[in-house]
Amino acid sequence: MKNKIWMSSPHMGENEFKYVKDAFDTNWIAPAGPYLPKFETSICDYTKAKHSLAVTSGTAAIHLALRLLEVQQDDIVLCQSLTFIGSAVPILYEKATPAFIDSESNTWNMCPEALETAIKKSSKKPKAIIVVHLYGMPSKMEEIMSISQKYDIPIIEDAAEALGSSINGKQCGTFGEFGVYSFNGNKIITTGGGGALVSKDKEAIDQARFLSTQAKENALHYEHITFGYNYRLSNISAAIGCGQLEVLNDRIAKKRNLFTHYKSSTNIKLQKEPKGYISNRWLICGLLDDKKQRDNLIDELAKYNIESRPVWKPMHLQPLFKGTSYYGSNISEGIFDRGICLPSDTKMVDEDIEKINEILTNFFL
Ligand SMILES: *Cc1c(COP(=O)(O)O)cnc(C)c1O
Repeated sequence: MKNKIWMSSPHMGENEFKYVKDAFDTNWIAPAGPYLPKFETSICDYTKAKHSLAVTSGTAAIHLALRLLEVQQDDIVLCQSLTFIGSAVPILYEKATPAFIDSESNTWNMCPEALETAIKKSSKKPKAIIVVHLYGMPSKMEEIMSISQKYDIPIIEDAAEALGSSINGKQCGTFGEFGVYSFNGNKIITTGGGGALVSKDKEAIDQARFLSTQAKENALHYEHITFGYNYRLSNISAAIGCGQLEVLNDRIAKKRNLFTHYKSSTNIKLQKEPKGYISNRWLICGLLDDKKQRDNLIDELAKYNIESRPVWKPMHLQPLFKGTSYYGSNISEGIFDRGICLPSDTKMVDEDIEKINEILTNFFL
């Protein structure tokens, strides 16, 4: 059988292995070493974030952001409902109380009106807002930032899927108090598992670095006043990341080109970019007429060993979050019912793209 076509699989460039070999040659096989600051500087150069910290996952970066914002037991944290569990689960790590916010239908991301309603109706002032740029599509950051300022509630921007996406030239991840990227194996670039926390606030990133390395005070015998985590990225992973950042623009170009192919060949209502918005098109997604048609298309693609999936199941529908507050008007439910993530792998060759086009054309006949 022909090799599987994936939604998004790791895609190495020319230099990753060279840098890993260099890490071996210099014996920096540790969560310390020269590729870590190199990788962090490259992340800042690319995104124009002021400061960054490389950690073991995007989830860890969100957890650190909550710690830095002093989110504690019973604090309310508002979080986009339509997302991957990694956005929301760090709220539980801190025993805080999540409240979920619906999407709006243009970007599929946090609805600013529902956000404002949630703030007004919350029993106490929420401690933080977690907004997500789902599938690489930027959220309505102008509206969301002005709500954040009006009510004085900080934003954690989950840009795990949106490295390289932007609004009027400003990179996703650099709007809020904190921005988060993921370098998991399925993301637009990967370190074989990893993440980054970015911020304008140097002290906050310094404190995050301290917390990510077990909160060791400056003493030879290891003195501890507070507790931290073992969240620092490995130098080997950072070496991979340095190589991957060199090819990020090529990966985005390839995904955006794939989007153009889909657009010209299917009836699926693909996610549109609002004016001034650039999506990295990490996953190319759209809506079908109904759930049945969507499920049939996933089955049809699977017959040819081609991976596709429904969109993320909203958090407020997850058994884990049964009984949790939810503010909205059923937009995310509709997207979950009818939405599909199409194969968006940058390793696809022309033959693969033609094959998918043919399957899609026949499906809609
Ligand atoms: C992948 C992802 C995360 C978590 O990142 P990890 O590196 O896998 O921990 C968080 N939020 C979203 C939206 C993601 O897609």
